[in-house]
Order: sequence, then structure tokens, then C-alpha cells
Amino acid sequence: MLRCPETHEEAFLVMSTGEMVGRMVRSGILGCPICRREYAIVRGVVNFSGPGTGEGLPPRQKYAVAAGAPPRSPDAQTLQALLDLSGPGGYVVLVGSAARHAVGLAGLMGGIHFVAINAPSEVEELPVLSLLACAKMIPLRGAMARSLVVGADWAGDPWLGEAQRVLLRGRRLVIEAERVKPPSGVTQLAIGEGLWVGEKR
Ligand SMILES: [Zn+2]
Repeated sequence: MLRCPETHEEAFLVMSTGEMVGRMVRSGILGCPICRREYAIVRGVVNFSGPGTGEGLPPRQKYAVAAGAPPRSPDAQTLQALLDLSGPGGYVVLVGSAARHAVGLAGLMGGIHFVAINAPSEVEELPVLSLLACAKMIPLRGAMARSLVVGADWAGDPWLGEAQRVLLRGRRLVIEAERVKPPSGVTQLAIGEGLWVGEKR
């Protein structure tokens, strides 16, 4: 489901594994057969931004807490309903601080794999959660996600357009912010309680 973030067509990446813990790859290299770039897996995070050295990695942010306003965050059950996640299977993609929802959602539903892009530094890789870092795009193939949550910290360009690209048609996108410029191709369903909810056309 991964794709090279360069602008060429999608292609399978080739992995050479280093250290493994169970089925989790802690270190290794992903190679692109088209442009020949290599991406390092370091401490369980695939780094799509640097030339295999960890350089250019977007900073893994600490949770930002606005002064005077407690951060609002939907509970896992609310999020499950908004995402219309009823059965097992498939991929749910979490962008930025939304990565923190993986554990709660996984506790409600087995059989879904979570992929977090640019997760805060507190979030650790799990058997149900893969971590990716990329400064310019969501390094996943188009139309692969059954739903997507974008954290308030990444609720702008190019991430919302990227969210639309990787989402399957008819599936839900939740943005953890109300004042957003919705990506084209996504119909707004609801707005409120600090959330924007839409569905891909
Ligand atoms: Zn490539």
C-alpha cells in the first residue's frame, strides 16, 4: 500500500529488512524500482523525506495545547461512528496528532490496520499501527483507505488533498478542526464539536 513520494507513477516498493520484532520491521530500507531512491526504516518509522539518512524528517511534534483552551478530542466510539467503521478489514489512515486515536479505535474493532503519517513522538509502532514520516505527501497508493482522520496540526495543504486521494470512494474523512478548506471531491456531511466530517464522492 506504500508508494514512493516522487511524482512518477505508483509502483511497488521493495523492502530489505533489518531488525524485526514479531512482524514489525524496526529497521530496514525500502527501495523504489522506478526512481531508485531508498527510504530508511528507523526505529519502526519509515522515513520518506530523507535520502536514507534520517535527514529532512519532519519533526515529530509534541502535542500542541493552546493556552487557555483544553484540547477537544472525540472519544473512540464517537470517532468510530463518524468514520462509519462497522466491520473488520482494511486500512484506516491517521495524519499528524490523529495518530493518538489508533489505540482506542483498535480496542473497539479488531482486524483493521492503522497507518499513521507524521505522528507525534509519543506514538509508538504497534502490531496494528504502522508509522510513516513524509514532508510532502501521504506516501500511500490512491484509494486504499476505508477512512481517514486528519489532526488539527496537519489540517491544511497538501494534507487534505492527499487525504482525498488515498480515501476510497463513498468513505469518510474526519478533520479535527472546523475552519478548514475542504478538499474538492469530498462532500461535507457534518461540522461541529471541533470536527469536520465528509464523504468522498
Ligand atoms: Zn520513486
